[in-house]
Amino acid sequence: ELSYDVYTASKLRTATKARALRIAVLSREAASYSTAKLVTEGEARGHVVEVIDTTRCYMAINAKAPEVYYDGKRLPRFDAVIPRIGASITTYGCSVLRQFETLGTYCVNGSEGITASRDKLHAHQVLARHRIGMPTTAFAASPKDTKNLMDLVGTAPLIVKLLESTQGKGVVLAETKKAAESVIDAFRGLKANFLVQDYVKEAAGEDIRCLVIGGKVVAAMKRTSDGDDFRSNLHRGGTAAVTRISKTERDMATRAAKAFKLGVAGVDLLRSSEGPKILEVNSSPGLEGIEKASGKNIAALLFDQIEMRVRPAPLKKTRK
Ligand code: ADP
Repeated sequence: ELSYDVYTASKLRTATKARALRIAVLSREAASYSTAKLVTEGEARGHVVEVIDTTRCYMAINAKAPEVYYDGKRLPRFDAVIPRIGASITTYGCSVLRQFETLGTYCVNGSEGITASRDKLHAHQVLARHRIGMPTTAFAASPKDTKNLMDLVGTAPLIVKLLESTQGKGVVLAETKKAAESVIDAFRGLKANFLVQDYVKEAAGEDIRCLVIGGKVVAAMKRTSDGDDFRSNLHRGGTAAVTRISKTERDMATRAAKAFKLGVAGVDLLRSSEGPKILEVNSSPGLEGIEKASGKNIAALLFDQIEMRVRPAPLKKTRK
């Protein structure tokens, strides 16, 4: 059912076998499952894979020679960069990534898409611009508009969400408008940015994570929350199981990844009574949960994509 073209990929792999690539994984967590898996898989394919701590990169910015330095040395030209930039260092991480983009290095995910996807409000605006369905969402800066804001979204229960929430930590379910108002007041008091969203009841603590690589859904899993929590994040004790997705869901997931120009993305959607609704697009999707649930080697599929897109720079062309 999931239409990854395994035949084409293996053919391409054979064709590109001789060409070892030099690949950087931008990550601060060399020991994490995802980063370690990317290194193991890349090396098994004969590539040179280096884990670069994003926050240790420094840069000289000038018109002539954009470079990235690391540990006292100029970094070599990489053929490809796999960014796995943590939410806490999005701004600096994306600056480093932009430098690689300026150098002309192929980046699996671009700085623009990562930046847009990290801010939930920005992300919803991108989705809306591409006419991709999502739960009704509203945002306002002034406390004078709290009531109007809730009216825009509709009736309680409502979801109030911090714009930079991850792992479900900043997501609150307010059963009544009164409760929602209190939460909004509290967030405003903390000067935290948030959005108000229609609560998709039917989803009942379940969401679907679609792993999109190179414009195709290569695996999908259903995540179910722990107990009566409405949040299905695996970090919150949710469980995952492989699931079949409909053509509509697959189309939406691929369109969402494309809207952010992401080569690899974890697209989360809710199954609502009006059809699928996109919840968020994750530019550094964890590999462990989806590999275990689907039994697929997702890292390998990512390298298929990289090998297909990148040709190593000719040796003679090195600059001074
Ligand atoms: P985070 O980025 O912090 O994980 P999400 O927006 O993905 O925040 O929300 C976390 C979880 O909460 C989702 O996986 C989903 O299970 C649940 N959830 C979030 N928004 C809604 C909503 N509008 N309706 C129903 N459930 C929701």
